[in-house]
Amino acid sequence: MTGGAGFLGSHLCDRLVEARNEVLCVDNFFTGTKRNVAHLLGNPYFELQRHDVTFPLYVEVEQIYNLACPASPIHYQFDPVQTTKTSVHGAINMLGLAKRVKARILQASTSEVYGDPEIHPQVEGYWGRVNPIGIRSCYDEGKRCAETLFFDYYRQHRLDIKVVRIFNTYGPRMHPNDGRVVSNFIVQALKGGDITVYGDGQQTRSFCYVDDLIEAIIRMMKSGANLPGPINLGNPSEFTMLELVEKIIGFTFSKSRVVHLPLPSDDPRQRQPDITLAREKLMWEPKVSLDDGLKETIAYFRRVLSDAGP
Ligand code: NAD
Ligand code: UDP
Ligand code: UDP
Repeated sequence: MTGGAGFLGSHLCDRLVEARNEVLCVDNFFTGTKRNVAHLLGNPYFELQRHDVTFPLYVEVEQIYNLACPASPIHYQFDPVQTTKTSVHGAINMLGLAKRVKARILQASTSEVYGDPEIHPQVEGYWGRVNPIGIRSCYDEGKRCAETLFFDYYRQHRLDIKVVRIFNTYGPRMHPNDGRVVSNFIVQALKGGDITVYGDGQQTRSFCYVDDLIEAIIRMMKSGANLPGPINLGNPSEFTMLELVEKIIGFTFSKSRVVHLPLPSDDPRQRQPDITLAREKLMWEPKVSLDDGLKETIAYFRRVLSDAGP
């Protein structure tokens, strides 16, 4: 598992260790933290290795989940060249590893490959509308190039690949300062500071709770070899950012004010996954409502912000 000490990776480690798989978690701790996997450190099924995926990795494994990559705009824009390297060199190294040891390999791709979409909801066959030279490009184009590499290794070297396109996912262990909207709004609401809505707040996203997403990723990894993807994974219920604020203020009983800040450039206006393929091929659909997921996430951030820790 690359990126295994991050938000999604640590939940995946939990699930795989629980099912008695031997997990090697590889992470350079750029956005992830040892704390996310600290509870697994003494477990004989778990091993943690500090490593940057832009460098080669020689280990013996049967399956690879490639999640390494900062996922929030603040973090992936901090060192954009490193972001592209992580996606592209990281993919090459992990594909080279998969080729050598004949491992099945899953890529955590993203709805960002669709850019600011003209097709709504987004289907896997849509090629996207992505700015190649903007401030989000290091992430979007890095992930697009990684998909290209996965499909070229699939065609050229007959690799057993799985590509999932993950839509906005939230839940416990999100980084409190990573700038993503759910963590930002919750932390701001709990601290009673201003809640920062970018633009008019009418842009939409569709939020998936982490447990639902992890279940889908595991199902994809277990699926037949005739399903390389790409496959959309996410929750199709779509909300505006103003609707999201309203829910979070309601659930936290916060006195915070809403302030509007400029919309960052290339910020997609709308996003909603079409998950017909996942429903048909993985027999999967999300179960956790936004209300329930937000309540769990708020409870987590309350613990993080208190002295007790998570
Ligand atoms: P995250 O930032 O919490 O996790 C990413 C992990 O990768 C971190 O632990 C980080 O330290 C590690 N990492 C970064 N660069 C690395 C490198 N060069 N070498 C080794 N490790 C490195 O983010 P996340 O939300 O858990 O995302 C995990 C994956 O899922 C990412 O690939 C992301 O692009 C993808 N994804 C996430 C979402 C979402 O909503 N959370 C949506 C779409 C795609
Ligand atoms: N690689 C790796 N671990 C391995 C095998 C390969 O990290 O176990 C890296 C290696 O650095 C190489 C890359 O994966 O550059 C791509 O490997 P591949 O065999 O596809 O290409 P080549 O070695 O011919 O460039
Ligand atoms: N956003 C916002 N306030 C914040 C953080 C984000 O209004 O404090 C908006 C952001 O402009 C975007 C949406 O929320 O329209 C989702 O942002 P996020 O960074 O979570 O995900 P992404 O844009 O990558 O989907």
